[in-house]
Amino acid sequence: MMDQLPREHFPAACTVFGIDEPGDSAYAIESGSVEVLAAPDQQRVAILGVGELFGEVALLDHLPRTATVRTLEPTTLVRIERQHVNELLKRSDPVIRHLLELLLRRFRSKNSEHPDESSTPAGSDDRTCALRTLALTRDLAHALDFDQLELYYQPLISFSRRNLVGFEALVRWRHPTLGMIMPLEFIGLAERTGLIHKLGAWVLQRAVADWAGLRQHCQPDGGLPPFVSVNLSADELGDLGIVERIRSLLASHAMRPHELKIELTETVIIEDRNTISQVLEQLSALGIAIALDDFGTGYAGLETLKSLPISCLKIDKNFVQEIDSSLRSHEIVLTAIQLAASLGISTIAEGIEDEATFRRLDAMGCDVAQGYYFARPMPAAAVAGWLKQSIHEGKCAAAAG
Ligand code: C2E
Ligand code: CA
Ligand code: CA
Repeated sequence: MMDQLPREHFPAACTVFGIDEPGDSAYAIESGSVEVLAAPDQQRVAILGVGELFGEVALLDHLPRTATVRTLEPTTLVRIERQHVNELLKRSDPVIRHLLELLLRRFRSKNSEHPDESSTPAGSDDRTCALRTLALTRDLAHALDFDQLELYYQPLISFSRRNLVGFEALVRWRHPTLGMIMPLEFIGLAERTGLIHKLGAWVLQRAVADWAGLRQHCQPDGGLPPFVSVNLSADELGDLGIVERIRSLLASHAMRPHELKIELTETVIIEDRNTISQVLEQLSALGIAIALDDFGTGYAGLETLKSLPISCLKIDKNFVQEIDSSLRSHEIVLTAIQLAASLGISTIAEGIEDEATFRRLDAMGCDVAQGYYFARPMPAAAVAGWLKQSIHEGKCAAAAG
């Protein structure tokens, strides 16, 4: 974060800020040193050097400063603005945000003769969100032991023949009092608490165990053999042991490696690149396909395609859903499909919600379709009924034989 912040250079004996000046920034000392002089008689109360921080109260509110800060030698400071900190806070974990909020309010009422109630109202949304996050974090640890996780499957349909070629496995949490919780709400918690390893192992185990039943509904389409796709988080892929665990899991269920696909997001890949790339190389050498999820939304796009054994691009639903309304999204989708084709990589378009979008993507040369138009994610037991209905409606091709 510090690398992106502005630097300011000060000569020796220069006042960075004076007493009674309100400010909106704190400063970190990158080189040089400063002295801090306190009111009322400008007595030196501290000398601060490289790595230290001053003026941090200005990050909380607009109260006048209670000290003067002056450089002792030529000094470079990194400026941290209140607005920037507020933006970071907005994006942070709701529990951290709520705890900070409580601490700040206590600090303000202690440090001000007229506590400023309006500066940060006690956001009731934040509080509700924080309390829910705390409850979910506490309960997630038991979700597996109490059998509360469920794996849903969303069908994947080939464009050329409308065959059911596979499924994406998507986890759900049936909470005993809060009802069904969607993964966007608890995968992040699982990652932050380290539970993701146990959760991910359960997902893989469940998907592989369900495959024999699911597979019988699928039919290959040309070069697309049936498969089930599983999402893996960065933490799981940062562990070399996962390769052997997957290999023996497949062997124990007589599942062929090319019937399993691993989905990872572009943001995942920046984290622990060396280990992740080793794990992916080894999985790929076993014959497991690697799909790059949410293509176009991350940072690593083309570099990832060049250096990792990616064999499938999943085009993010945000682009797919705008192919008619945004020329840019249309061009991005078309370019992604063409790029994948020229690299010999298959494409899956997610978020298809109507026949018109399906046809547009078909004309662009996409391989596999996924979206509410065909089906929402469902329990394995619901697949047979859904397929019968979809064949009846003409959305999917009848199974051969
Ligand atoms: P994702 O991998 O991008 O999964 C696709 C998400 O889009 C799913 O949401 C799916 O229900 C939704 N979706 C599919 N078709 C449509 C459509 O036509 N319209 C719209 N509006 N949405 C559609 P879901 O199941 O809530 O999953 C959210 C995310 O949670 C997934 O995004 C994935 O990143 C993560 N996730 C789910 N299961 C797992 C898991 O087992 N492990 C890990 N690590 N992450 C998971
Ligand atoms: Ca996915
Ligand atoms: Ca996706």
